[in-house]
Amino acid sequence: MDRKKIYLSSPTMHGEEQKFIKEAFDTNWVAPLGPNVDALEKEMAEYTGAGHASALSAGTAAIHLALRILGIGEGDLVFTPSLTFSATCNPIIYEKATPVFIDSEYDTWNMSPQALERAFEKYGPPKAVMVVHLYGTPAKLDEIMAICKKHNVPLIEDAAESLSSTYKGKHTGTFGKIGIYSFNGNKIITTSGGGMLVSDEEEITKKATFLSTQARDPARHYQHSQIGYNYRMSNITAGIGRGQLLHLEEHKAIKKKIYEQYKKAFEDIEELSMNPLNKDGDANNWLSCVLIKEGSKITPDIIMDALQELNIESRPIWKPMHLQPVFEKYDFITADGSDKNPDHSVAADIFKRGFCLPSDIKNTDEDMELIINTVRKCFNK
Ligand SMILES: *Cc1c(COP(=O)(O)O)cnc(C)c1O
Repeated sequence: MDRKKIYLSSPTMHGEEQKFIKEAFDTNWVAPLGPNVDALEKEMAEYTGAGHASALSAGTAAIHLALRILGIGEGDLVFTPSLTFSATCNPIIYEKATPVFIDSEYDTWNMSPQALERAFEKYGPPKAVMVVHLYGTPAKLDEIMAICKKHNVPLIEDAAESLSSTYKGKHTGTFGKIGIYSFNGNKIITTSGGGMLVSDEEEITKKATFLSTQARDPARHYQHSQIGYNYRMSNITAGIGRGQLLHLEEHKAIKKKIYEQYKKAFEDIEELSMNPLNKDGDANNWLSCVLIKEGSKITPDIIMDALQELNIESRPIWKPMHLQPVFEKYDFITADGSDKNPDHSVAADIFKRGFCLPSDIKNTDEDMELIINTVRKCFNK
């Protein structure tokens, strides 16, 4: 296939990134610390409105440190959505804690407040609740936070996919006690790899930075009273991040336009609907996704195959965690109590009937036309 590849979501560089990298080289700040790291933390805290930020090597590292900082350990319960990327949940296992997977709701595809309520009824308060803003759509934060507040349980926000999305005018990632962002290659902005932990409490981000640099106690010799990690962001990658941050709002506007283009182009296909947006939020539309009507003869595989034929990348919806071999022994809670029939959950249904469309910022008008026509053809349009 010699047609140029159309990507799901690939890095979009602008040039300023190189200026910050060059500065790092010229001053020999080639290390997991330095002026770009400090500046990116400050700029991210300012941009999101989070009080404080700690720059780390990955979003997954940020989630891991969030759990450590909240003191989550062996046997502790963490309520987390089933419909997400495994990186949300893996750190729960690193700490030998126990995830309880919560079903999604159709309104936003995120954690169902009703199912969360049922998990509280079944288990009592967990040590933490982790919410995810899937594909950039904010979760029902008012409802979820009210439940957490009532039981005095800290909320962690996995905003890896939703940097720049807001809920009632405030940035996702800044509602919980701790929020995390990812700068992986496919996210809305990238440092090639990296993450950020944010919090209103400076004590928390300071602790994250401390743990991310091997937990060295203040002393001339190497003194350790806690287990640490090598999770700090490098000054080179932070330079890429500073250049990217200048273009975040522009990336968001393009992602929004892509979503609107798809929505309009598929309006007359009764069997297709776009992924839902939260009416109380402003999504970054990181990935545009569709859901195929139940009973349709056209499956996501048929459309993804047709796109693949033309060298166009698409992707299934995240396979729910409760259906993963590595997590199947953990409990799964639905809103309506059909927990013992996990294949009929909302999460499993969205996984079965949905998929992600190419949402690359560099898609040209011709690319969009080709994608749209290929999808439409599957429905004889
Ligand atoms: C990408 C992603 C992560 C992990 O971030 P990395 O920077 O790749 O470690 C965590 N959670 C979700 C929902 C993600 O999409």
